[in-house]
Amino acid sequence: MTSYNRNSDAQKPHIVVIGGGLAGLSAAISSIDAGARVTVMEKRPRFGGATWSFDRNSLFFDSGQHVYLACCTGYQWFLDRIGASHLAPLRGKLNLPVLDAAVSGKISFLRRRDLKAPLHLADSVLKYSHITAADKAKLVFGALPLMRMDLNDKKLDKQTLAEFLRRHKQSDAAIANFWEIINLATTNVRAEEVSLAVAAKVFKTLLTEKGAGDIGWSLVPLNDLHSKPALELLSHSGATIIKRARVMGIIGNTESTSEKNPGDPSRSHPDYPAKTVFGVSADGSDIRADAVIVATDHMDAAELLPKDTEVNIDSLQKLQYSPIINIHLVFDTKVMPFEIAAAVNSPAQFVFDTTSSSGLNPKTGQCLAVSVSAADSHVGWPSKDLIDLYQSEVEKLFPKAKSAKLTDAVVSREVKATMKVTAETNALRPSAVTGYQNLFLAGAWTDTGWPITMESAVLSGLKASKLALKHLGFKKSSEQIGEGVLI
Ligand SMILES: Cc1cc2nc3c(=O)[nH]c(=O)nc-3n(C[C@H](O)[C@H](O)[C@H](O)COP(=O)(O)OP(=O)(O)OC[C@H]3O[C@@H](n4cnc5c(N)ncnc54)[C@H](O)[C@@H]3O)c2cc1C
Repeated sequence: MTSYNRNSDAQKPHIVVIGGGLAGLSAAISSIDAGARVTVMEKRPRFGGATWSFDRNSLFFDSGQHVYLACCTGYQWFLDRIGASHLAPLRGKLNLPVLDAAVSGKISFLRRRDLKAPLHLADSVLKYSHITAADKAKLVFGALPLMRMDLNDKKLDKQTLAEFLRRHKQSDAAIANFWEIINLATTNVRAEEVSLAVAAKVFKTLLTEKGAGDIGWSLVPLNDLHSKPALELLSHSGATIIKRARVMGIIGNTESTSEKNPGDPSRSHPDYPAKTVFGVSADGSDIRADAVIVATDHMDAAELLPKDTEVNIDSLQKLQYSPIINIHLVFDTKVMPFEIAAAVNSPAQFVFDTTSSSGLNPKTGQCLAVSVSAADSHVGWPSKDLIDLYQSEVEKLFPKAKSAKLTDAVVSREVKATMKVTAETNALRPSAVTGYQNLFLAGAWTDTGWPITMESAVLSGLKASKLALKHLGFKKSSEQIGEGVLI
């Protein structure tokens, strides 16, 4: 391990971050904060990864509605560090209207009170009208073991959330109209398939921490919330930011030259020990690096990593994606009286009022985003069919929409929205360590303990940066990053 003189930029150790999503941006910011020289390479013409926005007819739409919970301390560190906290505030105490598309006007609220957990949710559960009284009485049989669950128990990954809930007296109706609302929005995998390991992380946190479920989301398009301020901060701090730079290979001394990835330009260098990387290759040129952080998604990482890392590349390549679609509907008048609403008995899982972030003048109408997680059965539909279906669902939920004029509509589809963490796959999520002493992994899909979320992305970036900085001889990374954030 080498210590470096940090007085001269050229002598500073150089960390190359591959991927400009939230994991890569977080890794880059914490690395440059600690005093490293940083280059971020992003294959697309834009940064922000899965969080991005586009404009259409003078309005802005997000690739998909993004929310965070108050328990997401890593993500809030990120917002704070890039000076964007005020653009995505928490919206007070959890108070989520849940409407029934099958029964007009039927509404209940999932809200929390200022009481000690789990009593903070008791009142709202007692009044919750979308499950029967008998099912309500049995919720405690599901909630108590979730609260007491040992999240390190390897057996959790061997079962699905639905299997666990059924074993604990939860009916199919209670799973669909209560547990699934929270599960789908946080894991993007249906209860029938999701690994209990990730679902339990969410439910245990929400049930045991009073304010954990308070929700926040952006007042502005995601590009303005994440990539714009993050890139401003990075370039102001002296980072090199390269877009349209697809990294084709990681250059280093592999242990076995016969087992290279097809595109891996690994080559030997007598000055470096085995299992050390010393650069990356993109667009025909090489960039030297003292440490490399791969912050791509899992499939891209599987292609980039040298074959003799400790990461099980074959398993990664078998992991699937779970899609998310958003149907953006612009009405000529306000049709939804809430900022956010969830639905039961409807394919429209969540509806958001995106008037503010879209830039629409609220006097001229309302912009809604209908967000559909685990959208496997709908992602391939033609846009017109999706718009027709979800417009009619919105009309069932908010009858005012029937008389309103739909002035514009567009669908955003993220086929590879998140890695699909089904039972038996959470254990396949690798750690940040690769077995190469100066090559680290980041990405929401790595083993942060969280579902594949913005929180997981940021925590993974901070973890990888911390390891890279430690390897390079930096001693004070955690103080510079902030307390309570680093894992
Ligand atoms: C529609 C949608 C809705 C979502 N809703 C929520 C939500 O409400 N709350 C929440 O917390 N999370 C949500 N998520 C999940 C969250 O957005 C992601 O988990 C997180 O943003 C992933 O960040 P990341 O940096 O790990 O990966 P990514 O964002 O995938 O970033 C990886 C980057 O690496 C780049 N890259 C890949 N290969 C290379 C290469 N060879 N060279 C250079 N660059 C490369 C890619 O172009 C990409 O920009 C949602 C995701 C989607 C798609």
